[in-house]
Amino acid sequence: MSEGPGPTKAHDPVSAAPVRVAFVALGSNVGERFEHLHAAARGLAALPATTIVGCSSIFETAPMGAAKFNFLNAVIALKTVVAPLPMLDVLLQLERSRGRAREEKWGPRTLDLDLLAMYGDEGPLTVAHPRLTLPHPGIAARDFVLRPLMEIAPSLQVAGQRLDHHLATLPEGARTVRGRHGLPLLERAPFGVSVPLLEGG
Ligand code: ADP
Ligand code: MG
Repeated sequence: MSEGPGPTKAHDPVSAAPVRVAFVALGSNVGERFEHLHAAARGLAALPATTIVGCSSIFETAPMGAAKFNFLNAVIALKTVVAPLPMLDVLLQLERSRGRAREEKWGPRTLDLDLLAMYGDEGPLTVAHPRLTLPHPGIAARDFVLRPLMEIAPSLQVAGQRLDHHLATLPEGARTVRGRHGLPLLERAPFGVSVPLLEGG
């Protein structure tokens, strides 16, 4: 048997580019927080050769660090041919379109979009680029990421452990989720995405 990922099986029929599942974390704690998240979800759904395959609930989260106001947090899963760095550029552009200025770490922000992970047929992509780290190193340390991610991809593994294991072992101080909103992130969005049981970094 050959080592390594080998060729991917899932390809876009038109572009022949590999199709992957991307998980994007959404956050907002300034202004029209729901509208910022909805706009981001609509923007992602409108990407070329991209389908929303999972959409979490919207969570209300106490701020960390310098931020004063509660966040809304959610996670979306996309099936897409958009490659990792172009996807980061899409996310940064969507942040700017909601008036995001880059300020202090964990400070107030209209919209924060983080690329959590991307999965191809070859498994989770590992990226160590000055502008992009995949899988996102903060996934296992944040309940506001773990809880929405568990809703749409409960079988996912990060750093060799299931998401529910990471959640159960989070220290009390890292538990910032205060509630879950009933409003959908996207109307008629699919809920739950099936990804193979894979090891993240
Ligand atoms: P944070 O999300 O940690 O609060 P920012 O949103 O200000 O920080 O992002 C700062 C930079 O992090 C981005 O400009 C981007 O280049 C870099 N970055 C590295 N890996 C990722 C990733 N997986 N998702 C999003 N941004 C990332
Ligand atoms: Mg960010």
